[in-house]
Amino acid sequence: MSAYKDEDPRVTRIKRSIRVVPDFPKPGIMFQDITTLLLDPQAFKDTVDMFVERYKDKNISVVAGIEARGFIFGPPIALATGAKFVPLRKPKKLPGEVISEEYILEYGRDCLQMHVGAVKAGERALVVDDLIATGGTLCAAMNLLERVGAHVVECACVIELPDLKGRERLNGKPLYVLVESH
Ligand code: AMP
Repeated sequence: MSAYKDEDPRVTRIKRSIRVVPDFPKPGIMFQDITTLLLDPQAFKDTVDMFVERYKDKNISVVAGIEARGFIFGPPIALATGAKFVPLRKPKKLPGEVISEEYILEYGRDCLQMHVGAVKAGERALVVDDLIATGGTLCAAMNLLERVGAHVVECACVIELPDLKGRERLNGKPLYVLVESH
């Protein structure tokens, strides 16, 4: 990945800190490993700062993080913007009453759940994950929030794989990403 002349130097550093692992977890997948970003405190801080700069004046009342890597980036954004954090989890992890959204994966199905009562009608939500590929996961997350009457202001990811056209599945909902990977 090259650095462009006008690129925010923080973005250049974030890009360089992400390790790409070919054929993980299965052949053909170029896995974008953000654990190496977490090993670089400046890149991790820059990532959170860039999101906070964008959302601090947007009246976000809830940051919804998607299991598992949305749990790394979501909470610091919630703390810095004064929003609450709500985890969207895989099935059978949340102990209270839940609502569920199933979605299709490349192979098979998956499901996200949210605690009933965690988000109220009329709240302004930001959905956070590490990466958008086909967009199915973000779509399920938005459906959960919209079913309880929340307004999804935007989805935010560190990485977009634009070749998979996940953005097109978001029904026009804005998506903000820091880096693209091809
Ligand atoms: P999707 O629903 O297809 O947009 O997939 C997004 C979810 O799958 C995110 O939670 C990502 O963490 C994970 N994911 C999909 N593809 C990759 C990839 N190439 N590298 C890392 N994570 C991925």
